[in-house]
Amino acid sequence: MAGIPGPGLRRTRFAPSPTGPLHLGHAFSALLAYGLAEPGQFLLRIEDIDQSRCRPEWEQEIFGDLAWLGLEWPLPVMRQSERLPAYAAALSRLAERGLIYPCCCRRADIRAALVAPQEGADPPVGPDGLIYPGTCRGRLLADAGPDEAIRLNAGAAFDLLGIGQVSFDDEALPGDHRLGRTSFLARVGDVVLSRRGMGTSYHLAVVVDDAAQGITVVPRGVDLFESTYIHVLLQALLRLPRPIYHHHQLIRDTSGKRLAKRDDARALRRYREDGATPATVRQLLGL
Ligand code: GLU
Repeated sequence: MAGIPGPGLRRTRFAPSPTGPLHLGHAFSALLAYGLAEPGQFLLRIEDIDQSRCRPEWEQEIFGDLAWLGLEWPLPVMRQSERLPAYAAALSRLAERGLIYPCCCRRADIRAALVAPQEGADPPVGPDGLIYPGTCRGRLLADAGPDEAIRLNAGAAFDLLGIGQVSFDDEALPGDHRLGRTSFLARVGDVVLSRRGMGTSYHLAVVVDDAAQGITVVPRGVDLFESTYIHVLLQALLRLPRPIYHHHQLIRDTSGKRLAKRDDARALRRYREDGATPATVRQLLGL
């Protein structure tokens, strides 16, 4: 486990999932993380928990693109698919405190449970989609069927911590970033900490790994802003240090749409093939 960097030294990371080509938006995030690590260290982490979507060739392309941009990082690179025991240990700690439960609901069940009582109104949506209505909340882990999801009992988590709110510091968006218990339950709810057949979820893995790597500043797109409340709640429950956050703007295409992995036209590979230099890319990104 990496230690916390010395006073004044920062440690940042870029944590892509090898599910497609890196595009200009990723280049922005990676270059920003690299710059924010001054003075300090920049790490690369491969977020490959969803093995059905990750491919070794995308991982190789990520290494190639980042090296082409001029970034350097220490080896070996942390790969989340190799960290399942660490996620299982974190789940056990939460289980010991009665904070997680198994969930067998499919998306259609959740939708049906939410839509029925309030016909006409749109059901509430959080960072992970529909806010879970709590159907399985009374179930015990001991009764979990094989291959079920595991959810955080967010209400119980707030009660146990005895805190009225979760909050974080953001160096890019200064202000008062807090969410109280009631708003958290209404806007986020009982998030999935272990997806079916995966042994973890994005939220649990990112929290456990940022702590294991001693990350002090987390640069990420502003689209993850609401997820950060989940992460700081998990840090409090697992007694992990809380990094500073840096939510950055998203890179959009000319029509204002956020770039997606399927947007092959904006793939860094394309720019490289067309003879662009890293300096051109920086210029395009306003860096
Ligand atoms: N793998 C995540 C992504 O690419 C990491 C982002 C984060 O947690 O900051 O969106």
